[in-house]
Order: sequence, then structure tokens, then C-alpha cells
Amino acid sequence: MCTRWKIWLACDHFDIRTDCCSAKTGIGIEDCKHYRLRTVEYPPPAGFQLPRFCPLMPNCPYSIRSGAWNCCECGKVMNTGGRCECVMIHGGVEIVCGHFCCHACPKGSYQL
Ligand SMILES: [Zn+2]
Ligand SMILES: [Zn+2]
Ligand SMILES: [Zn+2]
Ligand SMILES: [Zn+2]
Repeated sequence: MCTRWKIWLACDHFDIRTDCCSAKTGIGIEDCKHYRLRTVEYPPPAGFQLPRFCPLMPNCPYSIRSGAWNCCECGKVMNTGGRCECVMIHGGVEIVCGHFCCHACPKGSYQL
């Protein structure tokens, strides 16, 4: 089956991988009658091979910081996901910062 994989990475970016089958006749894999789109969430199932590098490299701030970074928006230190996990309470409502690691975010450290 022709499959286009959308693979989520630790940095919250995704990679696209395509596998073609022998029944493919057209140019694009969408032309194959067996075409399907699959999404793999992060973390992937055991045994699934993730790409070694984010496709946005060298422009993935998360990967450049080796997966540990401080949030430039809220100041949370040592984030290890692609987005800031800081939860703030505003008027009794929980708000997740959710800031994407950007070029302004410093490398992970416990010192501000
Ligand atoms: Zn196919
Ligand atoms: Zn990335
Ligand atoms: Zn934050
Ligand atoms: Zn930032």
C-alpha cells in the first residue's frame, strides 16, 4: 500500500515519509488506489524508527538546544518537550503556556 506517514517528533514538528507499493501507476502516490495517510503521534509505538534529525534542521530551535530549553515567554526552566508545559492559573482557570521553542528561548538551565 502506498502510505504517506506523518510522523510527530519530540520537538513538535513532523516529518513526512512515503512508502510506495508496486501497484502504483501514476506519478504521485495519491494516484495509487491503495493510497493512505497515517499519522504517528509522539512518542511512536515501540520499534518505529524515527528520523534521526528534524526536517527543519538546522532551523529547529529545540534540536539545536539538545531537547532542553527555557521558555522566553513565561520563564519556565528545563522544558523537554517541543512546547512549553508551564501551567499558569489565571482567575481560577488553568492556562498552558504552550510556547513553541523559538530562537529567542535560551538553552535549558536552572539559572535564569
Ligand atoms: Zn500503491
Ligand atoms: Zn523540529
Ligand atoms: Zn512558557
Ligand atoms: Zn521563545
